Amino acid sequence: MDSEAGKVEMFFFPFVGGGHLIPMIDLARIFASHGVKATVITIPNDAVVFQNAIARDQNSGLDIHLHPLPLPPGQHLQTITSVDMSAPPFTDTSILQSPLTHLLLLHRPDCIIADSFHRWAADSIDSIGIPRLIFNGNCCFSRCCEHSIKLHAPQLNSDPFVLPGLPHRIELTRSQLSIYARSGTEFPGKPMRTELNSFGQVMNSFFELEPEYAEYFRNQMGRKAWIIGPVSLCNRNVEDKAERGQKSAIDEHSCLNWLDSKKPNSVLYVSFGSLVRMNPTQLLELAHGLEASDCSFIWAVGKIQESAGEDENWIPDGFEERMKKTNKGLIIKGWAPQLLILEHASVGGFMTHCGWNSTLEGVCAGVPMVTWPLSAEQFYNEKLVTDVLRIGIKVGSEEWASWNMERKTVVGREKVEAAVQRLMGGGEAAEMAARAKDLAEKAKRAVEEGGSSYNDVEDLIEELKSRRKTEATAADEKAQ
Ligand code: UDP
Repeated sequence: MDSEAGKVEMFFFPFVGGGHLIPMIDLARIFASHGVKATVITIPNDAVVFQNAIARDQNSGLDIHLHPLPLPPGQHLQTITSVDMSAPPFTDTSILQSPLTHLLLLHRPDCIIADSFHRWAADSIDSIGIPRLIFNGNCCFSRCCEHSIKLHAPQLNSDPFVLPGLPHRIELTRSQLSIYARSGTEFPGKPMRTELNSFGQVMNSFFELEPEYAEYFRNQMGRKAWIIGPVSLCNRNVEDKAERGQKSAIDEHSCLNWLDSKKPNSVLYVSFGSLVRMNPTQLLELAHGLEASDCSFIWAVGKIQESAGEDENWIPDGFEERMKKTNKGLIIKGWAPQLLILEHASVGGFMTHCGWNSTLEGVCAGVPMVTWPLSAEQFYNEKLVTDVLRIGIKVGSEEWASWNMERKTVVGREKVEAAVQRLMGGGEAAEMAARAKDLAEKAKRAVEEGGSSYNDVEDLIEELKSRRKTEATAADEKAQ
């Protein structure tokens, strides 16, 4: 335990993929800003990616550290390489088991927050007797949807179907469910047991965003949860925002200058996260739809499915040149400084795959969204955005497919154009934008002193302190 009396020591053990790693680093920074000694346990590649942000925090007096795990001699990180932020969810990280165990036995922190994708970690940590908290990167709403499906299996009886027992009427089609949920089997590697016997869960959300679902998660599902987001709001300076997760493929100043040249709320930002690969046909339709719409856009073109080859057949003839000449579109091939872009006053809409981080970052920026879910729990997130919060328009994506799977369906250019026109036009769009701005204000208040997320951070720290006291008293009594 930490030698400085009273100081709580927490370990953070992120997964190796972008969408899971980025918020966990933010989590550690948040707890450090509340006076905790925070240590992030990483693989060496990830330590490099975040060392500047951590160094800036250290310089401003935070007790935060990176601990790259030494790998067992002769072992390599073949599949575990997040240099391109794309380690898929099934990446086996058990190579880290022995160095992690060694580290925990040596330091015995007050707790460890471990990503649920380290499937082997729960048993290892529990056997050492260190309180284990779970982080799985989802919101309460999607967890409640999963729970309803698991409990009632409505998808086995009709299509489309309504999720029973939830505070709102949520309707889905079978094709929007993961291949596991479609047939009523459980997503591999998400054992309930490790969740139920954990110390609790840390959620990247805020109570005011989804109050009914936060309560459902805690009361109906019986989960002990500290809801402490949006974690991205801890990035307060330009460097942190620009370098978050990776160095951007574009110089942030030229990106911001481009945005400065645009009218307020006139630009659509398009991104599908860190992992998913779109196929060339789909990208072509997207490009045509964007070009046909009336608005300007920044398009962060992520990974392209292998079949695309090197010949750039995903982009219409002369597209890039036309976008440059007319100044209508800025295309970023590679990593985009997403937080900086979303927060810019010229950005008035976000076309997103509904990854939870992106969704919440859109909420924080107060921008309405065109929702284009593809995989994971993104179809549930879409429902939250469009049907519950009413700050988004569906593009019409109907098919769940794993991040690297070939899709059978394509969203056509007309659908893209129509959704963008609706989102960036007046009328209902203005109402959605107003609701989005209101949520952004609530998000900021949640993380300020006295806000719901701020208080949950303090609550967790207090609980760890009192657990430490109880343990110390028990040890004293035993010694007497
Ligand atoms: N991100 C970014 N630039 C990019 C792509 C993604 O900064 O070009 C960040 C984004 O801000 C978010 C994370 O990567 O924090 C993606 O997480 P999300 O849950 O949205 O999707 P995933 O990548 O897990 O599918």
